[in-house]
Amino acid sequence: MLRCSNNARKGSPKWAPMKVTILKGSHEIGGNCIQLSSGSTTLLLDAGLPLSAESQPVDLSRLSVDALLVSHPHQDHFGLMATLPPGTPVYIGRLARSLIDAPQLFIGKDRYALNFYDFQAWQPFTIGDFTITPYLVDHSATDAYAFLIEAEGKRLFYSGDLRSHGRKGILFENLVKHPIRDIDVLFLEGTMLHRSNDLFPDETAVEETIFQTIRQQKNISFLLASSQNIDRIVSAFRACKRAGKLLVIDIYTAWVLEQLRQVTQNTPAMDWPEIRVFARYSQDEILKTNPDYFEDFRKRLYRHRVMPKELRETPEAFLYFGKMSGFRFIDKFKNAAAPVNVIYSQWLGYLAGKHADYYGSDQIAAYRSDPAVNFVYAHTSGHAPVADLQRLAAALNPRKLVPIHTEHGEDFSQIFATVVTHNDGEVFVVE
Ligand SMILES: [Zn+2]
Repeated sequence: MLRCSNNARKGSPKWAPMKVTILKGSHEIGGNCIQLSSGSTTLLLDAGLPLSAESQPVDLSRLSVDALLVSHPHQDHFGLMATLPPGTPVYIGRLARSLIDAPQLFIGKDRYALNFYDFQAWQPFTIGDFTITPYLVDHSATDAYAFLIEAEGKRLFYSGDLRSHGRKGILFENLVKHPIRDIDVLFLEGTMLHRSNDLFPDETAVEETIFQTIRQQKNISFLLASSQNIDRIVSAFRACKRAGKLLVIDIYTAWVLEQLRQVTQNTPAMDWPEIRVFARYSQDEILKTNPDYFEDFRKRLYRHRVMPKELRETPEAFLYFGKMSGFRFIDKFKNAAAPVNVIYSQWLGYLAGKHADYYGSDQIAAYRSDPAVNFVYAHTSGHAPVADLQRLAAALNPRKLVPIHTEHGEDFSQIFATVVTHNDGEVFVVE
């Protein structure tokens, strides 16, 4: 649905330059929050929860904006949206919205009661004095967007989080091949400055490692990854198909895959013959207590169930797509004669001990020296490495490039042209 805002601040002059403030995210990875105003309209680009425990979230509770635009369903981009004043319109991709609701339900919280509006990829829409065009991008979250934002003849492009090496890399290449012209300001994410993706340059490399790990397994394998990383589920599925194994998912992952059906029938789902669902009691209770929301999902799911007995009797037949918090379940399969494979398929930083919020990370980290566990790392980043960012920046050729979502904004000028860094809270005018 498209919406034109009815802004209360009438009487302001018709023409006013576009003003920009990075509220958060100029010097850290995550917590993105950028305020834009033009004429009588104010927008917020993302309302992210900081990833780092040392970083204080911005207080949005008294911020009057005409709308929030959410680039993608990762907490460090939407996690503060519920702290905006009640009634603030939130624009987000339709699938992304479903994917934001899913974890809420499975951790026993209510769905977000916010004023949501959909947009369509590449379809411009207006909010007051702004025209916004969402560009679908390749990222480790699905339904992720960059935004072209226009007002008063000025054009700003916000990259969101993006990459070229996922299964939708064509979207990045299209941006490079057919660049948007006359960009005044480019907000470019810089997660990968001083990080390398060389070990696993793309999803195919990840899939190959999963395949090699499970093909002759004598015990079960666990793959630890985000259920919202659809590329990774596809990699696990493809590796299983090649190795003649069954992919086991939990109810939450089955529900996430169910949401994908809004946009495609080509991603694996629980009713595919090579997939089984492990129905954990706590997740099943969620389905039972929300029958109106889940409709016949529970009934359908039970047709594809795998029982604990089957996993115990022929563990070598399965790859279990799980979470770090499931370490007690993994422990049940530990066996020094036939070590259980634990394929760690997310950012290694979570195991470094700085993320107290990640329940189970200590236990998973200890598997690295456990003789009953064969610990394997297989992960490619959700973010473009520097060489790809350079290609994108050169193609877009902005008058001004502003670092965002990076710990190394000061180093941007050695890598890109026309860089201007801004600190959190600093106001600048788009010229
Ligand atoms: Zn992200």
